[in-house]
Amino acid sequence: MKQNSYFDIGANLTHESFDNDFMTVIELAKLNNVKKICITSTSIEDTKVSLKLLENDQEFFITTCGVHPHYADTFEESNIDEIKKLSKHPAVKAIGETGLDLNRNYSRKENQIFCFKSHIEVAQELNLPLFLHQRDAHKDFMNCFNHINLKVNAVVHCFTGDKKEFYEYLDKGFWIGFTGWICDPIRGKHMIDLIANMPLDRIMIETDSPYLLPKNLKVKGRRNEPQFIVEVAKKIACLQKKSLEEISQIFYENSQRFFNL
Ligand SMILES: [Zn+2]
Repeated sequence: MKQNSYFDIGANLTHESFDNDFMTVIELAKLNNVKKICITSTSIEDTKVSLKLLENDQEFFITTCGVHPHYADTFEESNIDEIKKLSKHPAVKAIGETGLDLNRNYSRKENQIFCFKSHIEVAQELNLPLFLHQRDAHKDFMNCFNHINLKVNAVVHCFTGDKKEFYEYLDKGFWIGFTGWICDPIRGKHMIDLIANMPLDRIMIETDSPYLLPKNLKVKGRRNEPQFIVEVAKKIACLQKKSLEEISQIFYENSQRFFNL
């Protein structure tokens, strides 16, 4: 039987919960057919840490570069030059996480919008895909793309919205990332019908480790890891009535295409 391959398009591996056993986590991921991981970064400092982590394994890792909406209050013009500089590194394959988060509201809305728009501009200038974060901000988020002729790929990661939002994203040309959120029988319930019938050509999967451990797994400590990406693929395969092999092949190829690898 052909071996499945997985591409975790979003894992927060700079998170302190991986400080003590990073190498083991990666070994386990590889043993479970994870072939590539995109380490998501959330700040300038974080991108630097990420680039250190992946230094010795650039076949396996890629990363993003950007300032998360949570930290938009600290974002300043000078960061734009830093992002441009760091993005010259060949492992930086996307700009982000960037977007709007009006759920937690860790940063003021106007700062989030300024930070987000700056990232969109940088991505266009550098011709790098956008790694997008949106929570409770769909309308404002879409407005940030008004009057913009987006020339780069953009993925809305950790999609948890409804059918209407989903198809608005697809109409805009965006890609969608699904996490273990969909494995939660309660929190993921509203997405079942959507997932069963969605077109797959711009869908990708991610763990968002160490967050969002698939609910069906009983893991000590509740830390999510890239090795559990298969659970997200299984859930979509089941709803789409496809084999795990077929679905994982589709997601892997989509991810390669998305990041221009
Ligand atoms: Zn996010």
